[in-house]
Amino acid sequence: MVRTPQEIFNRLERILPTVEKPGRYTGGELNQVVKDWASVQTHIALVFPDIYDLGMSNLGLAILNEQINQRQDALAERVYSPWVDMEQRLRTAGVPLFSLESKHALLDFDIIGISLPYETLYTNTLNILDLGGVPLFSAERGAHHPLVIAGGHAAYNPEPMHAFIDAFVIGEGEEVIQEIINAHQAWRNSGASRDELLRSLSKIWGVYVPALYQDHYLDDGTFSHLEKLDPAAPLPVLKRIVAKLPPPTTNFIVPYIDTVHNRVPVEIMRGCTRGCRFCHAGMITRPVRERPVEEIVSAIETALAKTGFEEIGLLSLSSSDYTHILELVRAVGERFAGRHLSISLPSLRIESFSVDLMDALQDSRRGGFTLAPEAATERMREIINKPVSTQQLLDTAREIYSRGYPTIKLYFMIGHPSETLEDIQAIADLCKAVLAEGRKAIGKRAQVNAGVSTFVPKPHTPFQWVPCDTRQQILAKQDLLKRALRGPGLKLSWNTPEDTLLEAWLSRGDRRMAEVIYQAWMRGAKFDAWNEHYRYEIWMDAFAAAGLDPAFYTHRERPLDETFPWEHISTSVRKKFLAEDYLWSQRGKTRVDCRQRCFACGILPTFADLRRINPGEVWQCPEVKNKRIPIQEIVELDQIGVSG
Ligand code: SF4
Repeated sequence: MVRTPQEIFNRLERILPTVEKPGRYTGGELNQVVKDWASVQTHIALVFPDIYDLGMSNLGLAILNEQINQRQDALAERVYSPWVDMEQRLRTAGVPLFSLESKHALLDFDIIGISLPYETLYTNTLNILDLGGVPLFSAERGAHHPLVIAGGHAAYNPEPMHAFIDAFVIGEGEEVIQEIINAHQAWRNSGASRDELLRSLSKIWGVYVPALYQDHYLDDGTFSHLEKLDPAAPLPVLKRIVAKLPPPTTNFIVPYIDTVHNRVPVEIMRGCTRGCRFCHAGMITRPVRERPVEEIVSAIETALAKTGFEEIGLLSLSSSDYTHILELVRAVGERFAGRHLSISLPSLRIESFSVDLMDALQDSRRGGFTLAPEAATERMREIINKPVSTQQLLDTAREIYSRGYPTIKLYFMIGHPSETLEDIQAIADLCKAVLAEGRKAIGKRAQVNAGVSTFVPKPHTPFQWVPCDTRQQILAKQDLLKRALRGPGLKLSWNTPEDTLLEAWLSRGDRRMAEVIYQAWMRGAKFDAWNEHYRYEIWMDAFAAAGLDPAFYTHRERPLDETFPWEHISTSVRKKFLAEDYLWSQRGKTRVDCRQRCFACGILPTFADLRRINPGEVWQCPEVKNKRIPIQEIVELDQIGVSG
């Protein structure tokens, strides 16, 4: 096995001409940061466990890359999964996985930071560690091995990956990454044991170290509790947030090859107050915090000048809810008029105001317009807490077509609680009704593209108790849709039931699931997010080898008082609030946007002090005037089990 950057570089010269898209592995792009390796103390590999083409668009890693490289004493470099052809060449040639910037082997880094936005990246994560020569299991790593940390939305249920990750970052990474680097440096300088490093990391707000806890189960196989093995370990572990969003990242690396998004992504706000009951992101990213208009516009200006990109993405979970959205789109439209930029504003509400917003983005191209009703009947939209009337949807569709958009993409989910085949038939009927509006407005040019995914119940949401549809149920619903939703102007796309089930097993898994992931990887599972690589039968074999029943994790309705294996991770949205919301859904009772009325979900009492020192409209939770308990004390109270 070669090891030094020079040796790796030499072998790559021979390998790269033989693989697909060698530009995935060369590095050297505009705006990459290459520091002198020897002049910094801490070397961090930022890993996205899928190919470069996808990973380059990950905003979280771009933010961390910029933040870490601003430090004099640390560097960050990028690592992605090699595609299957490259992996085979690397293994044959004895070349370890390496960073794009300096071609250092993964094993040479002090910290490996892995982004886990979704669960289907788990086997790729194992594959990356293996290709990098890093022991797969945390327990097998010593003081001379890199520290392996992971964060991202999937980390809010870290247990299925507990055996492979030394420490999870729960929540927002901007501040905590600096504290992790500081703790690592202090540990290195002290010469203490690796256990000491893990203990010191566990003291950082937002860091969860699985090795400091033991899991326990009841006789029926359900989770009982997590026992602290170290009295000082926090329980629960409170998610990390930043009180105020820092200015947007502008130093984007410009790839040589086509990637999923070649654009400047700017997060205009974080969090969502809509309260859709299926939405994991909406629950875990509270509270809503917004960036000022001028800060966004000036960041776009800087990023465009640095990158030459011609596309801008104004990102958030619900763009129409950004307080100054009209002012923002006008400012962007005016400032960049005549530059022929393509500006995307995803996640717009179903109302004609959204069409006004798109119109205000002068110069943007007029292709498809996306709406996400998620369900086709008003009854079902009340159950999922996305109340919008069918008439409003049809009125909005008419507006969209008549303003020159030929295609409307409609996103739906099947598999919502209490769904019947009538609700599925209603999806086809609604798509046809929308198309009919288009025909009236622009004739035969009108198109409806329906994207129908299957609902996966997620931890920390009001639907964390509900069963996921079985394979047979999903197939029956999809068959109905395929029969009912056809004809000129209509297109339907869907996920396979097998894709859905994998996500469902892993989303609400416990620590025992780590063995299933390991067994699946040993049997060749990787690129599970890719249809051509995902193999359902491997996972069935892995469950059998681990002695676990997949249906236990997916198709069981959980009683309200069941303890969940992710409960030690506190999003600060209380379980009681989620349970009440679940019960409300069964009665078709909806909640309004909590900007209009606070429902006391738990965010404010936990972060009262942060809110108090950030008054005004930066946050969208009500203001806190009185002195409350400081955040550090709240974390301590949480640690001794005093929490709502
Ligand atoms: S504390 Fe109130 S306003 Fe803030 S997120 Fe929770 S329900 Fe919404």
